[in-house]
Amino acid sequence: MNIRKKILTRCGALLTAVLVLAPTALAAEAEIPYIPQTVPAAQLAPADQRGQEDWQLLLVNPWHTVPEGYEIKLATLSNGLQVDERIYDDLDDMLSDCREAGLNPIVCSAYRTEATQTRLYRNKVARVRASGVPEDRVEAEAARWVAKPGTSEHQTGLALDIVAAGYQILDEEQEDTAEQKWLMENSWKYGFILRYPSEKSDITGIGYEPWHYRYVGKAAAADIYRTGVCLEEYLSQEGPEAELAPAQTIRQAAPASGSMETAPQGAAAI
Ligand SMILES: [Zn+2]
Repeated sequence: MNIRKKILTRCGALLTAVLVLAPTALAAEAEIPYIPQTVPAAQLAPADQRGQEDWQLLLVNPWHTVPEGYEIKLATLSNGLQVDERIYDDLDDMLSDCREAGLNPIVCSAYRTEATQTRLYRNKVARVRASGVPEDRVEAEAARWVAKPGTSEHQTGLALDIVAAGYQILDEEQEDTAEQKWLMENSWKYGFILRYPSEKSDITGIGYEPWHYRYVGKAAAADIYRTGVCLEEYLSQEGPEAELAPAQTIRQAAPASGSMETAPQGAAAI
């Protein structure tokens, strides 16, 4: 797969096409102190071959796992959650501006270790099984809502779940909150996209999540927002060799009635 080379080229081109920069946030008022922290070597060993330029467009989905040995440095938010330190400033800008608009966004889930993702996934499998879903569909249904370990963007530190303080439930009604409306309209200005739009589940393999945002950089986010594509579609435009695995294996599962999860304590979905 030559997608990395393509992305490198694409990145260079897009850097000249940045459309809108976020308003400058006041660092002094930042509510998320910057505390760089390196992931223990035991979890993230040797450096990946991946170039520094394409990290923003790293594709992690049911068919593309987190690269072995993927290495990141983490910054810690005020609530203890962590993100890739390279997205910290833009995230801070976005949240600060959202608050200045009179809203109250809460990051309820961010970077996860493989162990955490494994625990969340196993919990979800247990809940799906308990809901009565036939055994041969349990894992597929669970994976629509909590990514299998190794396939979650949360393991990259580039994704986070954001909810409204007044409605901290991860279900479709989250989209009706003023916070989500603001984020959906403005997040691209800060380099973030709503990663799992409602009409793209066939391609992403993940159900609609009006709370999961992914950092892709400002140029790509502007492009993706303007054209209404999802990340898989955006990357597939890089060339025919970009692989998009068929999504029907995921879509076979019927929506689970018990897919709703509450946000506090980082008990988020994908
Ligand atoms: Zn998420």
